Amino acid sequence: MQTEFDHIVVGGGSAGCAVAARLAERPGARVCVIEAGPSDADIRVKVPFGLVHLLGSDRRNWKRQTVPMAAAGGRRVSVPRGRMLGGSGSINSMVWFRGTRADFDAWALPGWDADTVWDAFDAVEARMTPTRLPHPHSLSNAFGELFAANDPGAPPTPERQSAGVFHTNMRNGARWSAADGFLRPSGADVLTGAEVDHVTFDGARATGVVLRDGRTLRALAGVVLSAGSIESPMILMRSGIGPAADLKAAGIEVQVDAPGVGDNLHDHPGFGLHFKGRGSGYGLTLGQLPAWAVSPLQWLMTRSGRLASNTVEAGAFYSVTDSAVPEVQTHFLPFLMGWQGRSIIWGAGYFADVCLCQPRSRGRLRIGPDTHAPLIDLNLFGDERDLDMMTAAVARLRTLLERAAFGSRRAPEMFPGPDVTGEALRETIRTRAGTAYHPVGTVALGGPLDALGAVKGVSNLWVADASVMPRITSANTNAPSMMIGWQIGGHVAAHAKRNAA
Ligand SMILES: Cc1cc2nc3c(=O)[nH]c(=O)nc-3n(C[C@H](O)[C@H](O)[C@H](O)COP(=O)(O)OP(=O)(O)OC[C@H]3O[C@@H](n4cnc5c(N)ncnc54)[C@H](O)[C@@H]3O)c2cc1C
Repeated sequence: MQTEFDHIVVGGGSAGCAVAARLAERPGARVCVIEAGPSDADIRVKVPFGLVHLLGSDRRNWKRQTVPMAAAGGRRVSVPRGRMLGGSGSINSMVWFRGTRADFDAWALPGWDADTVWDAFDAVEARMTPTRLPHPHSLSNAFGELFAANDPGAPPTPERQSAGVFHTNMRNGARWSAADGFLRPSGADVLTGAEVDHVTFDGARATGVVLRDGRTLRALAGVVLSAGSIESPMILMRSGIGPAADLKAAGIEVQVDAPGVGDNLHDHPGFGLHFKGRGSGYGLTLGQLPAWAVSPLQWLMTRSGRLASNTVEAGAFYSVTDSAVPEVQTHFLPFLMGWQGRSIIWGAGYFADVCLCQPRSRGRLRIGPDTHAPLIDLNLFGDERDLDMMTAAVARLRTLLERAAFGSRRAPEMFPGPDVTGEALRETIRTRAGTAYHPVGTVALGGPLDALGAVKGVSNLWVADASVMPRITSANTNAPSMMIGWQIGGHVAAHAKRNAA
C-alpha cells in the first residue's frame, strides 16, 4: 500500500469529493481520499428509493444520536450520517438548493460573498446537473402547484428555483452523488474502509494521519478534513485541537486550545404532519402490492416508477410573520410514513413537514471519555422562539394543505391530528420534533478556521465540509457542502502551488 501522498483528504463525502477533484487538477499531484466506510457500489445507493433501506444500515450509516436535550423534552434524536463514498450524499434525498444569496452575504467573510459563491455553484452544477424530478406523484404535483400559483412568501427567484416539485441531483433516474460528479473523474487514489483516528504533526505542521487500525499515511502538502460536521471536529479534538479542558479530561495532549471546535452546532429543526387514507399516496396496501412487485423491473427498464422517487418530491418556502425573507421550508413526501416508532406501516398516505430556515438555537459537540463517541447536543429549542415559530408554521401548513388540489387522494391528518392546536401542538412539537439532518457549524470559518478554511495555530491543515458554515444556509445543505469543498479545495491547491514555486 502506498503511504505517502501530496494531499490527504479525510472523508469521501459531498465536500471531500469536490476537494479531491480540485486538488487532482494540479499536474502531478498525488491525492488520496481516505474514507471510513465502504465504496458506494450498492444498488440501494443508485436506486433513489433505496435510501429508505440505507437509513437502517449499520455499515453505511454512522447512526449517531444526540445526548438527551432538556429543551426538547429530555429526548435524544437521531443524527444519521452517510458512511461510504459519497458520504451523506449517498443516503440523502438529493434535493438541490443553493440557499439564498443573503445566507452567504451574512457570513461576512472575504471570499464567501454571494457573487463569488454563486460562481462556485455554477462550477459545481456543471458537474452535478440538478434537474426537476421527472416523474413526481400526482400529489406532489398538486402540492407544488399550490405554491407555484399562490406563493405566500415572495415570488420565485433563482435562489429558490426548485420550490414546487424539487430539483434533484439525479441522472437518468439514478442517484448522481459527489462521488460520481467529482471523485471518480478526478483520478485521485481512494482508500475505503479506513477510519482516521488523528492527524500527525511535526511541531505545528500537519504531516499526515494515523488510522484507527494503526497505519500511518504521510501528506507532504497537507491534510484536508472533510469528515462532516460530526466527525471533523472529533478528528481535530483527537489531534489535540479543541477546548483545552475537554481535551485534558479525555487524556489528549493539547496542540492548540481552540474553544470554537465543536461550538455553534445547529441544524434545521423539523416536524411533520402524517396523513393516512385509502387511495392516497404511496404505501403498503393490498391494492399497491402489484405496483411494488413490478417496480424493480420498471426502474431497470424505464428508470421511472415509485423506486425512482427520491421520497422528498416537493416543497416550498413561506413566512409566518410579515418577513419578506422565507422563514420556513416545507418538504412534501407522497408516502405514508410511520409516526409510532416504525417508519414503514400498512396503509397509504402522505407527509409534509416544516423546517426553520434560520434556527436561533445553538448547541455544542464535545469529546468525552470514549473519544470515538461524540457527545452531540443540538440544544433543540434551547431558544424558545424556535418553538414559537415552528408552532405557527405548522398551523400555517395545515391551512395551505387544505387548499391543495389533492382530489380523491386527500387523506385525514393522523398525527398529531387536527384537534392538536395551540399549546398542545407546541408541546407535541417540543417532544416529537427532529431535524432535517443538516448539522453544521462545528468548525466555523472565522472561528477555529481562517476564511480560507485553514486551521488556526497550525500549518498544512484545512477543514472543508458542512462543519465550516458559520451559519446554516436557508435550505438543504448538500449543494452548499459541495460548493464549500470546491472553494476550499481551490485554496489548498493554490497554497500548494505557491509552496512548490
Ligand atoms: C438522511 C439524510 C437526508 C438528507 N437529505 C438531503 C437532501 O435531500 N438535500 C440536501 O441538500 N441535503 C440533504 N442532507 C444533508 C446533506 O447530505 C449533507 O449536508 C451533506 O452531505 C454534508 O456533506 P459533508 O461533506 O459535510 O459530509 P458527508 O457527506 O457526511 O461526508 C463525510 C464523509 O466522511 C467520512 N468520515 C467520517 N469520519 C471519518 C473518519 N474518521 N475517517 C475517514 N472518513 C470519515 C464519512 O463516512 C463520510 O463519507 C441529508 C442528510 C441525510 C443524512
